[in-house]
Amino acid sequence: MEKKRILRIKVIIIGVLVIALFCIFSISLYSNLIIYSKKSKKFFLNDFFSNGKKDNLTYQIKSNDARETIVYKMEIPKKEFDRINSENYKIVIYRIASHWYKVYFNGILIGSVGNLENDSSIVWNTINYFDIDKNLIKDINEISIEIYYTYEIGALSFPPIITDVKEANRLMNWFKFVLSNIYIIAIGIMWFSFLLLMILSNLMKNPKKEYLYYSLATLLFSFYIFDNILIYDMIFSTIIFKKIIFSCLYLSVSFVSLAIYREFKGKINLISIVLILFSAIVIIFFSNNMVLLKKMAGIFNILIILNILGWIYSTFKNLKISNDAKVIFSASIFLMIVTTYDIFFMVFGKTGIYNTISTNILGSIFFSLVIIVLVVFDYIELYSKMSWEKERADLFYEKSSRDSLTGVYNRQYVESYIENLTPPFSLLMIDTDRFKEINDTYGHLVGDEIIKYIARESVNNVRSGDVVARWGGDEFVIALKHRGEKDNSLYVAEKVRNAIKKTYTIDGLNFNVTLSMGLYTVESKEENKIIFKKADDALYISKENGRDRITVWKENMRSV
Ligand code: GH3
Ligand code: MG
Repeated sequence: MEKKRILRIKVIIIGVLVIALFCIFSISLYSNLIIYSKKSKKFFLNDFFSNGKKDNLTYQIKSNDARETIVYKMEIPKKEFDRINSENYKIVIYRIASHWYKVYFNGILIGSVGNLENDSSIVWNTINYFDIDKNLIKDINEISIEIYYTYEIGALSFPPIITDVKEANRLMNWFKFVLSNIYIIAIGIMWFSFLLLMILSNLMKNPKKEYLYYSLATLLFSFYIFDNILIYDMIFSTIIFKKIIFSCLYLSVSFVSLAIYREFKGKINLISIVLILFSAIVIIFFSNNMVLLKKMAGIFNILIILNILGWIYSTFKNLKISNDAKVIFSASIFLMIVTTYDIFFMVFGKTGIYNTISTNILGSIFFSLVIIVLVVFDYIELYSKMSWEKERADLFYEKSSRDSLTGVYNRQYVESYIENLTPPFSLLMIDTDRFKEINDTYGHLVGDEIIKYIARESVNNVRSGDVVARWGGDEFVIALKHRGEKDNSLYVAEKVRNAIKKTYTIDGLNFNVTLSMGLYTVESKEENKIIFKKADDALYISKENGRDRITVWKENMRSV
């Protein structure tokens, strides 16, 4: 059974991983297909000049925080437009590292992106398009892009494209989805995971500390994702923004390492935590310009990989003994693949094929989902264990509160029941008349049958919320709750007495069992001892007055 379960978990994990990997790479691949598809009519703007030198918007980090504008110019002959042969044209510009840029066609401004006043916007992760009026097209045309930047400049993924409206819309829709919507969804998922993890671990009696760390990691990572969405007006300067998001990234990674260290006790996780926290401190205190920060972040990427390797190592060592290890191991391998893929494109991606989306962000979302699944499963397991234990406890309690001969409640139960019952209610104390005689004449077994009969008939003649209990020997107690209506306990008592008095036959012998009863109605909170004493006093009067009757308790009761 256990083996089957583990096998199922393995199959599910591998299945999910394969699907996730497939989805992520399909998105990436599809992005490239959209851009480089031969069918659609478009041309890439690949012959830019800047300051008289050929420069195809090559991505570069300037050696200092520059705060300058640069103009890139390119000439396009009319025949290129004719080849597309459309009524209207658009220039599509994707991911230019800058704070703002303007686009001119034959000297006429056709559009701008970002806040032109200062460097408070981050536009590098956007796709934009601008109309090129057909009437402006001459034999030789000039496109110029004026870019304002501080520390980095250039096209990050692929060069600007001129194409027809249909193709431009297709590109826009797809990259808007991949570039902004997907990241906003990612942030949503991360916040949702954070909340879910917090709620679940609060619901658990003794939550694992790891869950807290994982949830903090998810929350912190969500702030890092903000680097990928368009921010038009930042409250901070770029460098403070970057310091915040990188610190969040490093803290996020260190929290995951901490969680894994707590669970699997790998020394390497501790070392990697120290290193990554060191990175955060260095970035916060020692990178006083963006160029330096960018370079440092590049180096600290290696430490992130080291941390992930630590997760892989620690979980690998525990693969055989822990299901958690299996799950986190697989997720870490997955994260490793997508991160390597990203870094590969960061280093080699400038020529030929471009990486169009950040796969490691998608990988991280996946990682956080895996953690959620882990915690949810843990919670479900815990919950079902808890409800099983509760069931057992209930069963035990139920058993211990019953009388074994008759199955009605026992004295212990009815005492604590009365203790907690809010008045008004009535207590009926019952004693079987001359029961000894039955025992002596017909034997104990017959006596037992009569006791069971009294119990059964009592239960049958009261309402389901009333409590019938065996007080001991031939004595019973019935607690009658008043439910809004006027006190009808005397009526119920009579009903029980008359029902039992009817002829009852055991083995051909007829019995007319009579009962003596004492009834006391509790109007306001009283001590248990007093309540039972009063009912018992009333019962005593019934016996004194000739049995087979009910006495309602009164002050100064007397026998006749
Ligand atoms: P009274 O009308 O005064 O109540 O007379 P009684 O004979 O019923 O006297 P009492 O209530 O004092 O006696 C109860 C008897 O019930 C005593 C005991 O032998 C018998 N008894 C107690 N528990 C059991 C039991 O579990 N089974 C049987 N068969 N008899 C029991
Ligand atoms: Mg009796």
